[in-house]
Amino acid sequence: MSFTKSTDTIHELVEVHLRRFEQRYTSGRRTIVELLASFGQPMSISDIALADPEVPRSSAYRHLADLQGAGVVRRIAASDEFARFELTEDLTHHHHHLLCTSCGQVTDVTPTNAFERTVAVMVRELTAQRGFRAISHALDVTGHCQNCQP
Ligand SMILES: [Zn+2]
Ligand SMILES: [Zn+2]
Repeated sequence: MSFTKSTDTIHELVEVHLRRFEQRYTSGRRTIVELLASFGQPMSISDIALADPEVPRSSAYRHLADLQGAGVVRRIAASDEFARFELTEDLTHHHHHLLCTSCGQVTDVTPTNAFERTVAVMVRELTAQRGFRAISHALDVTGHCQNCQP
């Protein structure tokens, strides 16, 4: 995944979000954000452990939960056993996911503008009659990745 914002900007935004929840941007939380920002795709706990063996799994879980609570991290999963984490879209950019239910692989996909325009029309169709005002949408596709197809 490519980021339109610099890592410095991401850190500043995370700090603002955390402050809103009266949470401090500790070095542990910062490390997790750093990893998520540089990894380029959603990370599992094992990915985090591999990328930075200094971070104990229990701390990684705790930091991720805190960051999720402050709205800067989002959990994505084809199933409970395959949880992955990424920075939320207001810190990165709008995209969709392909989720493999066999191996848990999560692939970020950034649709074309034409695709997004089509989705916007469909979202209006879904929301208009209900007087609902849409802010964003999420479209994740579950299935089998190339490796997991028979
Ligand atoms: Zn797979
Ligand atoms: Zn979209």
